[in-house]
Amino acid sequence: MSEQETLLRVQELDTRIFELREREKNHPLKAEVEALEEEREARSVEAEEVADSMEESRKKQRAMEDEVQGLENKLAREEEKLYGGKVTNPKELRGLQAEVRSLKKKKDALETEFLEEMESQDEIKGRAEGLQAEVERLRAEMEEKQKIIDGETVEIRSELDDLEGKRRALRAEIGEELLELYDGLLKSKHGLAVVRVSDGVCLGCRVELPGIEFDRFLKSDSTFTCTNCGRILVK
Ligand SMILES: [Zn+2]
Repeated sequence: MSEQETLLRVQELDTRIFELREREKNHPLKAEVEALEEEREARSVEAEEVADSMEESRKKQRAMEDEVQGLENKLAREEEKLYGGKVTNPKELRGLQAEVRSLKKKKDALETEFLEEMESQDEIKGRAEGLQAEVERLRAEMEEKQKIIDGETVEIRSELDDLEGKRRALRAEIGEELLELYDGLLKSKHGLAVVRVSDGVCLGCRVELPGIEFDRFLKSDSTFTCTNCGRILVK
């Protein structure tokens, strides 16, 4: 095999290596995993907010319980005075009756509020459970996709190892000067440095070689580059 033919095989390996590295870097599922992660974080923040409002509501309820207890104590004392027989002054008794009525009214209102708070807690609990389920679902979906990516990454790495080994072996058969030219062209020609010539046309740029140049190329074993694009040519 001529040095140029060997270089063409190196080129094929480099093309495949480049494709695999791109695929590893920009796996189509990566964007999906990132979007899922963003959504999961947003739902988690919401879940935290809901937990906070639950805590708030419980605090409010405890304060209400204390307040009801205070009212009950006061009510018991006032009723004791009203019915205990110690107070006989009618004006004072009327005052006590009014006080007892007012305390009972306050207590009823508080108890209603307490029940409303309990209902609102049921609603908060429902929202918290819904969010938790959503967070779990997103996490599972993310893990599933990540598993696919990881599996393919393992395959890609193993194929890359294999290709890089083959490339190393082939490069060892090529002269330093030609390799230098090749590596430079690989960078400047977007990954395509060696091409075949078909019917006098460079398959890198699709431009026909000048007749004299093409004749010299056919007769020679030394390295030729395309007069138009500069790529290394192989017969
Ligand atoms: Zn060309």
